[in-house]
Amino acid sequence: MQNQRIVLDTRPQGAVSQDNFRLETLAVPGLEDGEVLVRNQYLSLDPYMRGRLDDRKSYADPQPLGEVMIGGTVGEVVESRADGFEAGDRVVGMGGWQHFAALKAAELRKVPTSLPASVFLGPAGMPGVTAWVGLNDIGAPKPNETVVVSSAAGAVGGVVGQLAKARGARAVGIAGGPDKCRYVTDTLGFDACVDYKAPDLAARFAEAVPDGVDVYFENVGGRLFELVLEHINPFARIPLCGWISSYDGQDIVPIRNLPRLLVMRAKLQGFIVAESPERWPPALQELTSMLAESRLHYAESVSQGLSSAPAAFIGMLHGTNFGKQLVKLE
Ligand code: NDP
Repeated sequence: MQNQRIVLDTRPQGAVSQDNFRLETLAVPGLEDGEVLVRNQYLSLDPYMRGRLDDRKSYADPQPLGEVMIGGTVGEVVESRADGFEAGDRVVGMGGWQHFAALKAAELRKVPTSLPASVFLGPAGMPGVTAWVGLNDIGAPKPNETVVVSSAAGAVGGVVGQLAKARGARAVGIAGGPDKCRYVTDTLGFDACVDYKAPDLAARFAEAVPDGVDVYFENVGGRLFELVLEHINPFARIPLCGWISSYDGQDIVPIRNLPRLLVMRAKLQGFIVAESPERWPPALQELTSMLAESRLHYAESVSQGLSSAPAAFIGMLHGTNFGKQLVKLE
């Protein structure tokens, strides 16, 4: 059997391009004791991957050149040399941008077949847990407070607003374009959504948060961060989840009103979801029950075939995705 995979060929200078990646065909990897061979069905494309393309000190090591691109996957076990796993099991792991992966059983999570496979990379996977951890552990919204989230139509943002509503808070999204904003209010049930690409942003945002902002779940950064800071209430909490506006080689814009944090005695805290392993089980329990009871809504953008991954990844960094960006590998 042959395995197709995508490796990082060169590091981007500025914005990432499809030329930075290379498609390869190799033999399917053999197994060692304690490993299972997984046929990946869906690959998750995530903003963190952009950071790994640069050779720069961060919370994780850079993606090595010439090696298979890192990535979360859901798939089916085709062969097992590990106790507790057998052919046919559905598993989530870091299978990478490829069709087959030999993975350590200890690093895999078995998931049920009662929900569609792809949700374990979205609302019942890493993005959902990110929303849950950032909102509950840092944002800690109280009933009737106002929670604002940027990239509200995205994989993380969509879950943040729905969890905020479930806690009795008012949820306000910020998203790019009228279609995404309609989805955020009409499908996800947010109270309001502000299109950051339309004119008069400052006035429209002020109208959407008449009682100020108690929690700002930040996914985007830059000018949106500055805008929301102008409206934070005393003792506001800001889970700093991402800063995607400057991931792909854009200049980092200086934040001119940072002293608002002091004046409003606000808390700003960055977090990395992988560093809270103890929070995953309670998060997944709530998220999967909400999904099973149709109380958690989501959208997916699914690109077809491994070779479509680089273009879909670049598109996702710039907003072509509608909800969770996936690649269907079979
Ligand atoms: P999304 O599904 O939200 O996709 C990315 C979205 O970012 C695009 O669709 C686009 O939406 C938005 N975007 C891109 N550039 C800009 C810009 N300049 N201004 C405003 N919006 C922009 O991705 P995820 O939900 O997977 O991730 C959201 C954020 O969460 C990212 O910052 C990511 O790095 C972070 N994250 C952090 C984790 C952690 O542990 N801290 C874990 C997982 C994710 P639009 O069309 O609305 O512009």
